[in-house]
Amino acid sequence: MSAVCGFVSLVGEPNVGKSTLLNRLVGEPLAIVSPKPQTTWNVVRGILTAEKGQVIFVDTPGLHQPRDLCGAHLAAEAKRARAESDLVYWMADCRKGAVVPPEFDPGIVHSVPSFLVLNKVDLIEKPALLPLIDYFGKLGPFREVVPVSAKTGDNVERLLQATWSYLPEGPPLFPADQLSDQPERELVKEFIREQMYLFTQQEIPYASAVKIEEFREREDGRKLLIAAVIHVERDSQKGIVVGKGGEMIKKIGIAARRRIEAFLGTPVYLDLRVKVRDKWRQNKDSLREFGLQP
Ligand code: GDP
Ligand code: MG
Repeated sequence: MSAVCGFVSLVGEPNVGKSTLLNRLVGEPLAIVSPKPQTTWNVVRGILTAEKGQVIFVDTPGLHQPRDLCGAHLAAEAKRARAESDLVYWMADCRKGAVVPPEFDPGIVHSVPSFLVLNKVDLIEKPALLPLIDYFGKLGPFREVVPVSAKTGDNVERLLQATWSYLPEGPPLFPADQLSDQPERELVKEFIREQMYLFTQQEIPYASAVKIEEFREREDGRKLLIAAVIHVERDSQKGIVVGKGGEMIKKIGIAARRRIEAFLGTPVYLDLRVKVRDKWRQNKDSLREFGLQP
């Protein structure tokens, strides 16, 4: 039997569990999981290589209202990823009951093979599940309706097994030991954004971009030096991220450094600073500089 290789898009409203499922499928924390919606910034691709072949999972940002250039760019990326994939996982949160998921796109369900993935089944009683499976099965021409818990891993293996037959035959696109096509520094940026989000509990991350200025081994010691700058749009935002006497940035830095060290498996010296750049989200050069637009 020859190997298969293809792309699977994870689509669903913020907080439905896309990042959790992607991490579960790949077995590594590649994507940021957050109790609050909309922290996934770039399209995160997770790569799974097994005997049957290779799957490249794409966790797209939501198609929230484009409020500016940056939002429009995210929405365009998400749309393209869906239309070009071999299979789409349409995710629904089973606690929301029998309602059409907000990101649902019947056009794509008809043109691209689709599964309805009913997530968070650990949070509802078994008898409540059957009517939901019935409802979603009638919502569109889904090849499968798969109830899962991305959090506990329940039924995720079945989801994966059902996936292989929708992927085209072909050699792997990535080396078997590669887990993501995002360079390490992209993931480092994501880790910093994640901690900033968790600590500030504000809309800051959307108005901020992290730029890695240095990423290198230091001559003297064993620690990897990472220098990063968080660019925000206003002094008030800088005030929040820096905090009283620099306490907030210190907390963000320590937590982010721990995440980065765990991921890279090496001690890290993280130099984290905050700068204000007026209206950077309206500026094409800034978007390009921060890697948010080609
Ligand atoms: P995303 O915005 O779609 O990427 O959602 P996340 O993966 O960031 O998850 C949002 C929240 O839902 C996080 O607090 C997750 O821990 C939680 N979550 C995700 N999947 C499950 C699940 O299957 N069961 C439960 N109980 N919580 C989940
Ligand atoms: Mg996410």
